[in-house]
Amino acid sequence: MSTEMANTDPEGIDGVRMTWNAWPRTKVDASKCVIPIAASISPIRPHPHIPNNPYAPLRCKTCSAVLNPFCRVDFSALIWICPFCFQRNHFPHHYSGISETNVPAELYPQYTTIEYVIPTSDIHHALPQPVYVFVLDTCMIEEELRFAKLALQQALEFLPENALVGFVSFGTQVQVHELGYSDVSKVYVFQGSKEMTKDHVLNQLGLLGGVASGRRVGGGTGQGFQKGVAHGHGGGFPNSGITRFLLPASEGAYIIHSRVEDLGTDKWPVAPGHRSLRCTGLALSVASGLLGACLPGTGGRVVALVGGPCTEGHGSIVSQDLTDPVRSHKDLDKDAALYFRKAVQFYEELSKQMVNHGQVLDLFASALDQVGVAEMKVIIERTGGLVVLAESFGHPVFRDSFKRVFENGEEALGLSYNGTLEMNCSKDIKIQGIIGPCTSLEKKGPAVASTPIGQGNTTAWKLCGLDKDTCLTVLFDISSTDRSDHSGTLNPQLYIQTLTR
Ligand SMILES: [Zn+2]
Repeated sequence: MSTEMANTDPEGIDGVRMTWNAWPRTKVDASKCVIPIAASISPIRPHPHIPNNPYAPLRCKTCSAVLNPFCRVDFSALIWICPFCFQRNHFPHHYSGISETNVPAELYPQYTTIEYVIPTSDIHHALPQPVYVFVLDTCMIEEELRFAKLALQQALEFLPENALVGFVSFGTQVQVHELGYSDVSKVYVFQGSKEMTKDHVLNQLGLLGGVASGRRVGGGTGQGFQKGVAHGHGGGFPNSGITRFLLPASEGAYIIHSRVEDLGTDKWPVAPGHRSLRCTGLALSVASGLLGACLPGTGGRVVALVGGPCTEGHGSIVSQDLTDPVRSHKDLDKDAALYFRKAVQFYEELSKQMVNHGQVLDLFASALDQVGVAEMKVIIERTGGLVVLAESFGHPVFRDSFKRVFENGEEALGLSYNGTLEMNCSKDIKIQGIIGPCTSLEKKGPAVASTPIGQGNTTAWKLCGLDKDTCLTVLFDISSTDRSDHSGTLNPQLYIQTLTR
């Protein structure tokens, strides 16, 4: 989908709102604006008047901006002039029928936003299947775990048949459930207290190419996994992980349902006056690593149900001793929270890994005490995930929210993932950055402003998770210093174009 807007268009089908209707044209004028020059954009907000073009967009050969109603067109020479870089582009052969009275939809003045539905044969992963790895905390009292298990089991019923599902449970240890093993439950266990690299974990799971020690499994995705083969080491079958750890919901949902049924509260002994040993950081890291090894770069959601603070290993936010209180606002203010920086650093690293693979973290935290969202939020922000806080897994705030995510499939909330956003601007506009759920793709260019704000220093961003209500604020800088610059300019208008994939 691409969106173009003139600088005077306040909103409309583009889903764009600007802080100013008329923009200053010089740096000096811009510096007098108290309110920043910015636009709030809703990249995939639906609108009944947005047309669908069943073909790929035409792009400028110099700046790769997309053909739009603001381009000047020479119908006799079949040339369009890019309003951003003034490059003259030839229309391709299949546009040869166009004329002043027969223009393609992308040149209609009212279609400033167009959705391109690219035929599936043209792009490899046109309609990727949705992927979910559920991560369930078991360090809870019996009653809470029962509520959490029930919600998860209900969610499984709503998943579309083609979705892939995986399951990780954790407490003091992380358990990765091998689902291709339906007769017996086979689980890989990782000790939360151990310092483990991602490669170490993947190696243990037999998912590291070349040195894999896992079972070699025949068949394509989902179908035909071998049952009851106890051993049989065959190294380096790169995607065996899909058939072992991620199954289509049509069969995987049932298996996870029964694995969840069998789960009890964490058995690790908790000394009196102590918190449960809970290795949330490792569990999330393992889930993301598993997803990344099975489906590199294709996105997916890690859906975590967490019932308390991380107290074991990476990402811990408090000690096990209950006489040590969880950090307060005051501690954070004074930078006196002992675990804070180290935990944030860990989650920041993890967010990079997840963004690389286009993964999303959805966090459902239910506890009377703190769970450490302040430390973990960097992942949710960068990946565009959901976060729901409630005091109990039996509370309607959790129950109803969780249900809504899955109830009507992805359409209900308009959940999408593994997106990218690109921006093109007239040369007098520089992009300072974006505030909102996105991560810079570090694509430098002439439109990048020297002082970044938010996710800056780029003209492209990753949107791991986004929905129809996702809104990003782009901040701009006016770069021209002299009015006389514009006297000879071809077009006195400023243009901005956003492209969301
Ligand atoms: Zn151009």
